[in-house]
Amino acid sequence: MHSHVKMCVDRTIGRGQRHQAFDRALSERADNLLVAPVGDENPVRQAVAGPLVARATLFVSKRWAPGRTLAVSFLDGPSELCDRVAKAAREWESSASLRFDFGRHPAAELRVSFQADSGSWSWIGTDALSVEPGRPTINFGWLTATTPQDELRRVVLHEFGHVLGLVHEHQNPAAAGVIPWNVNAVYEYYAQFGWSRSEIDANVLQTYSREHTNFTEFDRSSIMLYPVDDRLTDGSFSVGWNRELSVQDRAFVRTWYPEPADPVELLVGGARLEAGLDAAEVETFTFVNDIDRRHIVDTRGPTDVHLTLLGPDDPAAVLSMDDDRGQGRNARIVRRLRPGRYWVQVRAGAGNGQGPFNVGVRRYR
Ligand SMILES: [Zn+2]
Repeated sequence: MHSHVKMCVDRTIGRGQRHQAFDRALSERADNLLVAPVGDENPVRQAVAGPLVARATLFVSKRWAPGRTLAVSFLDGPSELCDRVAKAAREWESSASLRFDFGRHPAAELRVSFQADSGSWSWIGTDALSVEPGRPTINFGWLTATTPQDELRRVVLHEFGHVLGLVHEHQNPAAAGVIPWNVNAVYEYYAQFGWSRSEIDANVLQTYSREHTNFTEFDRSSIMLYPVDDRLTDGSFSVGWNRELSVQDRAFVRTWYPEPADPVELLVGGARLEAGLDAAEVETFTFVNDIDRRHIVDTRGPTDVHLTLLGPDDPAAVLSMDDDRGQGRNARIVRRLRPGRYWVQVRAGAGNGQGPFNVGVRRYR
């Protein structure tokens, strides 16, 4: 039905499966549960950083865990075409800490097909986990071995934007005041491709609730934007085919998928390391201990920090925590440690501190 118009159509999880899709999103990434204070102008960012408030809406985002490698398999398509798709998709890897592992994976999270009668689409983020095994999660309805490279790349970058969790930019609520749609012209235009009114509403005219927005400001360069034909707007407004990842596309995806920072190496009995803390930030350090003895891990400086000691040899095993046992509002842990590798996490203390601190580890005498 949509094969004559080269525009991507939304995939939405059916009501019956929504609960399961939420569960999958939350087990993928705990911070997919977001809280938007009512009336907040920037719900996504506030929800990530801000405290729980009484009047708030809960919603579930569909982001993958940062650092994740996603297996991708092709269900059909000539191998040369598959190679071109893989190469284009991997452009996203320079902006997100996700890796696409294309190959013959029997249980791939992402499955690509080239069914010509089905249009181009992708499920959004972790919704792909709710698709029946063996069925495509991404389809490229009009890509063939002879598709010019700039068109192939545009479509692949757009669909893999959905894979990362991005939604359509023309349906950003901020677009509502920017794109002066001529509604009758829009209906008439898409009707000639067989789109029903409700499909046109759902894919073109309706904006998302603010919780599901990509950006706070409308980005007319986004790869996630449909072209806007001047004849479909009142007055003069048009956007051509965006073929590149915009600056905002890249920057936004980076905030969702930051590179996991390598912990900084501390030396037992060595120099103390200077560092700093922003709100909601965690700094991680690591050290190796080669003798079974009591040790002191502590922070110094003007900032109220909280200290967590993890290990040995397991960066997820919490051994000890402290908030204020050090000098001033600093943290201090004294503990017998057996040989092994340890990790030290420093985050804002109970006083919600931000600012400089230094950290050290030494043997207790
Ligand atoms: Zn799309």
